[in-house]
Amino acid sequence: MARGSRVAWSILERLGRFDGGSNPPYPIMQRRDAVRIYALLSKEYPDSRDSPVKLACGTPFETVILTILSAQTTDRAVLKVRGPLFSRYPDATSLGAAEITAVEEIIHSLGYYHAKARHIIDAARMIATEYGGAVPDTMEGLLTIPGVGRKTANIVMYHAHGQNLGIAVDTHVRRLAQRIGFSDTDNVSVIEKDLMALFPERDWGELTDVLIAHGRTICDAKKPRCGICPITADCRCYRTVVKPVMN
Ligand code: SF4
Repeated sequence: MARGSRVAWSILERLGRFDGGSNPPYPIMQRRDAVRIYALLSKEYPDSRDSPVKLACGTPFETVILTILSAQTTDRAVLKVRGPLFSRYPDATSLGAAEITAVEEIIHSLGYYHAKARHIIDAARMIATEYGGAVPDTMEGLLTIPGVGRKTANIVMYHAHGQNLGIAVDTHVRRLAQRIGFSDTDNVSVIEKDLMALFPERDWGELTDVLIAHGRTICDAKKPRCGICPITADCRCYRTVVKPVMN
């Protein structure tokens, strides 16, 4: 095997273990270091809050539905079904009464569309029947809606209701929190708490968007582009995994 391939394979193998949280405990990152790293990333992704799906979220109802649909798929794919879905089912009452096969037909291009169709119909029905058609504006209320976990609830509270109650930890945020050194665990609940302890509340909503942008653009799960990363000098994964293999 050529040296380049060996290096790439070795990095990938070590990243797999690193991202899985099976590392020795590291010293806890200082808040000032975390804030400095976040400032560098924010500068890199000034428009991260304006992702296509976020811009497409008109009402709180649309935000809930699009956020449920966006799991494990791309913004572009979600945007393709947005128009047909909401022109046929513009509110919680109409979507809650929809035939599942009709909804599946509209969203079939998305991954897990059987489950997602069921989730958005159930969610819409509960919003219509239990909340009078208005999306709840409390974390407790949102968590009663089928298909809405803490991650989705955090996104809805921030983007639909303008409240920073927590930090949405998706697959990118989980991976980057471990790699950069914001957290030492693979447990998303603990990662959220670790991030909330490190960053001021005013940054919680945008932190998710910035980390997702970095995960999509540079810090890919399998091929992180450390050579062009603006936080290489501060990244724990780079110092302990990538750099030693490169040398
Ligand atoms: S230095 Fe590499 S591993 Fe660290 S955040 Fe940047 S791209 Fe990811």
